[in-house]
Amino acid sequence: MRVCKFGGTSMADSESIKKVVEIVRRDASRKYIVASAPGKRDKADVKITDALYDCYAALDGGDFDSAFDSITQRFMSITEGLSLDLDICAILDEVKASILKERSRDFTASRGEYLSALLLSKALGATFVDVAGLIKFKESGELLLDESLALIRSRLEGVERAVLPGFYGSLPDGKIKTFSRGGSDISGAIVASAVGADAYENWTDVDGFLSADPRVVKSPKLIDYLSYNELRELSYMGAEVLHPEAIYPVRRAGIPIHIKNTFHPSAAGTTIVANARHMSDFGVITGVAGKKGFSIINIEKEMMNSEIGFARRVLSVFESEGICFEHMPSGIDTLSVVVRDEYLSGKLPSLIAALWRATEADSIEVQSGLSLIATVGHNMASHQGTAAKIFKALAERHINVRMIDQGSSELNIIVGVDTFDYEKAIRAIYEQFCQNESEI
Ligand code: ASP
Repeated sequence: MRVCKFGGTSMADSESIKKVVEIVRRDASRKYIVASAPGKRDKADVKITDALYDCYAALDGGDFDSAFDSITQRFMSITEGLSLDLDICAILDEVKASILKERSRDFTASRGEYLSALLLSKALGATFVDVAGLIKFKESGELLLDESLALIRSRLEGVERAVLPGFYGSLPDGKIKTFSRGGSDISGAIVASAVGADAYENWTDVDGFLSADPRVVKSPKLIDYLSYNELRELSYMGAEVLHPEAIYPVRRAGIPIHIKNTFHPSAAGTTIVANARHMSDFGVITGVAGKKGFSIINIEKEMMNSEIGFARRVLSVFESEGICFEHMPSGIDTLSVVVRDEYLSGKLPSLIAALWRATEADSIEVQSGLSLIATVGHNMASHQGTAAKIFKALAERHINVRMIDQGSSELNIIVGVDTFDYEKAIRAIYEQFCQNESEI
């Protein structure tokens, strides 16, 4: 039995939804379907989720009616295109009224998935199952995974085929809460884990996971098998196929993830399992991914190495300021903390002041304009010379390495480079391993 999640481009219009219906009907094991809100039909189009965020913004003195018009048009045209026997006008009126009543950003955004799943359930002749009472969050916004799994399991028991909206659940007071953007991937993973699926199929608009960003590297190789850990590293570092948090629920249950293309269903796609080492025909590295927009906070203090509790004091400042950090490379009397710029925005002056107070450092300096690049692959653990190749590739292109981090799991090597070198560095590393086809 399989759980399928269909992304925004698969749900974008009636033509793509017809493909979804065909894929689901082709295989009786595709029992539980999780739907995203309609995405972009072409580059210039607007995702329904974004259009709904605009509706929410318009609640505050804007033109809500005309903002909601684009939602109406889109769902009416899907209903017509699929010839669904459904009073879509009445449903949209109800949704509009509920948005006006709730006046909640998350509730408004969630209606894209709600409507999308409702229409797909009609098109498939399947049961519509709302997730509002099934996916539960704590007051703090943290997902209550075990509780949600139990609720979904008992709700879906005996249901032949069901369609569920992705992206949202509810807080203890019943108010709707969404995951972060792209969160329908997480909903699909939760449903797959709840029903003990044999596979979680994630249907999207690409043939699978690529070994590098195609906007940076020309025709990067498709990855056939990937481990959960490699996927986590690559998606956290910017590979955009799957939400990075979608891995946990299925990994716990040992359920493989298949990335498939709705518009090219015969393509093999990418399979994600616990240990891909012996399955993949890949060589030393599995992929290269990266992200822009980091800063380094360098702290220097004489005799820091013998000062007990120094790192704890530094990190407790980050904790009390509510700032997440990415890496913490250190020297003998220096310690650096790498942080995403978005987390620092508006908080930097108070962070630096608190660091001075907590550490009595000799100097504290902030350097921005950093990008991180992760070279990922399980097979690196058994090969010598991988790091040498990465640094040789960067040196040959005169790219300055500002930070290096390799965990002892040897799953990845992360380098920090100046953002203006970012694309050049990704290409350099990719090509270095690509020159010999068997190495990537
Ligand atoms: N519709 C939501 C978004 O655009 C969630 C999703 O598609 O996964 O982020």
